[in-house]
Amino acid sequence: MKRVYLDNAATTPVAPEVLDEMVPVLAEHFGNPSSIYAEGRDAHRLLEDAREKVAKAMNAEPSEVFFTGSGTEGDNWALRGVAHKNAKKGKHIITTAIEHHAILHTAKRLEKEGFDVTYLPVDDKGRVNPEDLKKALRDDTILVSVMSANNEVGTIEPIKELVEIVKEHNKDSKTKTLFHTDAVQAFGNIPIDVKDLGVDLLSVSGHKIYGPKGVGALYIKKGTPIENLMEGGAQEKKRRPATENVASIVGFGKAAEIASENLEEHAEHLTKLRDRLIKGVLTRIPDSELTGDPVNRLPGNASFIFDYIEGEGILLSLDMVGVAGSSGSACTSGSLDPSHVLLALGLPAGRAHGSLRLTLGRDTTEEDVDYVVDQLVPIIERLRAMSPLDKDHPIDQEVYDK
Ligand code: PLP
Repeated sequence: MKRVYLDNAATTPVAPEVLDEMVPVLAEHFGNPSSIYAEGRDAHRLLEDAREKVAKAMNAEPSEVFFTGSGTEGDNWALRGVAHKNAKKGKHIITTAIEHHAILHTAKRLEKEGFDVTYLPVDDKGRVNPEDLKKALRDDTILVSVMSANNEVGTIEPIKELVEIVKEHNKDSKTKTLFHTDAVQAFGNIPIDVKDLGVDLLSVSGHKIYGPKGVGALYIKKGTPIENLMEGGAQEKKRRPATENVASIVGFGKAAEIASENLEEHAEHLTKLRDRLIKGVLTRIPDSELTGDPVNRLPGNASFIFDYIEGEGILLSLDMVGVAGSSGSACTSGSLDPSHVLLALGLPAGRAHGSLRLTLGRDTTEEDVDYVVDQLVPIIERLRAMSPLDKDHPIDQEVYDK
């Protein structure tokens, strides 16, 4: 059966050009990049070439790019590293209610350690209001972390504007507040320029941009006070111990190079298909709604809620007709909690359960989009026919609120 993969925000396939560069590294260039003999120097050169590519893709200096084992690690490092290094200056951190769990759970852990965390709200489109940040900043704020784009609803945050507010605040504050952004979903999909944004820290991940899984990077602006996450050897300029995953880093470098060279074309392709998908769904399926910002949204993200049904049912039915998508809710991970992102957008828990996220990719075609809409129409109709809920019997909110 034909498969249509519309979960590119979860992960992307490894691009053939990326694989072509990775295989020889695994097969031949096996040296440890820290070794001083020829095999080591060979691996070291590959590592530094990849660092240059990743740095170029975000307009950083190569010396400011530190490879990690994932986007999650970069997020943990940014938050915990800054918190622990700067705890004597202040213990206040600001983030948002819609961050990825790599940030939110790290923030919760820091709260347990005695840090004070403010979670900024978002509007019904998922945007942070810069005025809220202005009000939340304090003399003891050491870090602000706001994601560049949301992974569930695709909303793009006004990072440059938020950074400006922090810079203004820093002019007459004793503590210099640092700014981190989780750019895992944004990198490779919208322009990311660390200098233009003015951020101090930025995390990215390989597997969201057609690179391999288990590799990422943290941009650390020169001079940023941050502690290491792990103890060990002297790799990554003594900042991130562990023998580097050279093959994956090489793949990540290639993926970043391709992504930045084709950024405009890629975004145009995705936007066109995304808008076709959104239009198809909203016009053909009653009681459906687009979630997130209709304008400031990632080019490949189309996320919806369908009233009176559960996202899980939609996902399983789509899978049976060859379509891979995702639900915003955490049900798949064994929890019945609705998505924290959709709740933060102000959706009632009951409605938030009917969510579906479709994220398009490099290989998605117009035919794929049309196929998915054609399949989705009867699926939603059938699920609604089986559901005890409808217009006259809407969700019993109290059940979800308990
Ligand atoms: N941050 C965001 C916004 C993400 O979407 C993800 C992955 O889904 C991550 C962080 C974690 O990245 P990784 O899977 O590389 O750990």
